[in-house]
Amino acid sequence: MAIFRREYEDENGVKRLGVNNNRVGGTLLLAIILAAFSYFKYCSSKTVNEYTGREQHVSISPEQEISLGLNSAPAMIQQHGGLHPDQRGQELVKKIGQRLVNNTIASKTPYQYDFHLLADEEVINAFSLPGGQVFITAALFNQLKTEGQLAAVFGHEIGHVIARHGGERITQNELFNGLSNAATVAADDPNVGQNVAGLLNQFFAMPYGREQELEADDIGVQLMLHASYNPEEMIAVMEILKATAGPNRLPERMSTHPDPENRIEKIKAAIEKYKTK
Ligand SMILES: [Zn+2]
Repeated sequence: MAIFRREYEDENGVKRLGVNNNRVGGTLLLAIILAAFSYFKYCSSKTVNEYTGREQHVSISPEQEISLGLNSAPAMIQQHGGLHPDQRGQELVKKIGQRLVNNTIASKTPYQYDFHLLADEEVINAFSLPGGQVFITAALFNQLKTEGQLAAVFGHEIGHVIARHGGERITQNELFNGLSNAATVAADDPNVGQNVAGLLNQFFAMPYGREQELEADDIGVQLMLHASYNPEEMIAVMEILKATAGPNRLPERMSTHPDPENRIEKIKAAIEKYKTK
């Protein structure tokens, strides 16, 4: 901490070398206030998700989630080469998506669901934004063999929306940005703070955590059963993901989703758990 041996001007404008006690006290106090404020804000965002029953931290309202999703959708669509021109494909995607929403708990949520087929033929992916905008790339769409498999993909993505994983990630980001700002102030060295913030940003730029992915699978299985789809189709999707990932698969920690093999075991357990209900 360079602060303790730095040149400073005292109250009479005389340059001195050493510890400026007033400044250190003020800096630390400010850092503590910043850290405490961030932490308090995080704690006060605690809520129980009424659809999953899980306690979580979400600092934004469902209305904010919806507008965030709607505002980000055009950029997401553009990143993947726009919407796919195939109208039949586009209609099928909307039909399956809406069947999953209309016959399940998703219809009880305040979210505005919409389903989009993206023109991207290269990147095998599906994702959702907070508030209900759901996307699938043509690359993944073309790999799927049945409507049930498409329902499995969307069930998982609707799961992210219902479980508010986007809002959760934003709230975690707020906490860590707050704490890293406090660290910057405390260290009084912009480089230290930037490194901390950079590391945290790298970490949180990763899409969703492992637990969130598994929770989305779990919800997906429930939605499929309620909308009269065969939940085994989700296992078929995992097999497709496994086959298309190839031998150079990223280790689980670094990839968007946990290893398909790992997910299959949990999906089988979820099917057993929910099919009798
Ligand atoms: Zn996911």
